[in-house]
Amino acid sequence: MLVNPIYTNTAGTDKQVLKRYLDLPQPDGKILATYIWIDGTGENIRAKTRTCDTEPKKADDLSWWNFDGSSTGQAEGSNSDIYLKPVAIYNDPFMLGRNKLVMCETYKYNKDATKTNRRLECEEAMKLAADEHPWFGLEQEYTLLDGDGWPFGWPKGGYPQPQGPYYCGVGARRALGRDIVEAHYKACLYSGINISGTNAEVMPAQWEYQIGPCEGIDAGDQLWVSRYLLQRIAEEYGIQVSFDPKPIPGDWNGAGCHTNFSTLAMREPNGIEAINEAIKKLKPRHQTHIKHYDPKGGMDNRRRLTGRHETANINDFCAGIANRGASIRIPRQVGEDGCGYLEDRRPASNCDPYAVTDILVRTICLNEQD
Ligand code: ADP
Ligand code: MN
Ligand code: MN
Ligand code: MN
Ligand code: MN
Repeated sequence: MLVNPIYTNTAGTDKQVLKRYLDLPQPDGKILATYIWIDGTGENIRAKTRTCDTEPKKADDLSWWNFDGSSTGQAEGSNSDIYLKPVAIYNDPFMLGRNKLVMCETYKYNKDATKTNRRLECEEAMKLAADEHPWFGLEQEYTLLDGDGWPFGWPKGGYPQPQGPYYCGVGARRALGRDIVEAHYKACLYSGINISGTNAEVMPAQWEYQIGPCEGIDAGDQLWVSRYLLQRIAEEYGIQVSFDPKPIPGDWNGAGCHTNFSTLAMREPNGIEAINEAIKKLKPRHQTHIKHYDPKGGMDNRRRLTGRHETANINDFCAGIANRGASIRIPRQVGEDGCGYLEDRRPASNCDPYAVTDILVRTICLNEQD
């Protein structure tokens, strides 16, 4: 069952020794800015760090930078420079002080967006729909894997007891890898990310956290930086984070990125009418949305959206109150209040939130059709 050769001790350096150096005073007028971007896969994150002379207060205070796109699947070697455009900044929970994390967009040599820069179009849609104040709540599920590629804490060469005790589970052999979940929660808050909760998932070693509600482009920016934080923290433990939507085939739940969505009209009294109208617009565009909901145009979700394990079949569109086997669920409380939001359960855990929030706004607010 080993996916990769076994890497042992990938985080095995002495963190006490590292601490001596991290504790060194940092000279005034020297600020570390870690630029973060999405690589050519559309799902993996890259980052590199530079020194700035003044503390940036907003993304515009930082200059554009560049990297070798031929090493990230984003350019040919003969014309390899890709530009990094800073778009959002956060506090750096690793380097502390005035140091910053910087979410970036990527542009080619001719200043066209790269293929995996889905943010540009997303921001355009968010500007057009700004009057409707679109909010998003993103439920990011993920799976922790050991150095051998097998889920963290699972018995070697075998499987744990069947699903049942693990969802929101407590105790040894039920909650696997909680240190990472808690470290990540605090790191998100420190960074200025609007993390709203966390829970253990149905499959052991699978977890979830929620980002939001965030308005407009913030949702995508914050989710990507929260993923960076998670990868970076797990790296310190020698644990891998998998965002694969079906990491273990068989009778084990897959991983999604349920996307909760509302407009101002949906949040106001009798907003249920606006929610039902939105569902009417979503129905004929089901296949278009599916193409936007994982980085492989629907192929990844094909393994997850089977109609079992709390999913709807990838070929069907259905909506229902409190129905976790539907494409769109109206939460019970929203049904009772007569206003609130809807939950799109289709996006895969490895989706690009810019692509997901973009298509939702285009279909529901901008009335785009196929
Ligand atoms: P579930 O019951 O599906 O597990 P969660 O509690 O995990 O739901 O996630 C719900 C998410 O929806 C949270 O991130 C929450 O902040 C967000 N949310 C709440 N109200 C709204 C709203 N009006 N519009 C968009 N998102 C919302
Ligand atoms: Mn070099
Ligand atoms: Mn949830
Ligand atoms: Mn969940
Ligand atoms: Mn959900």
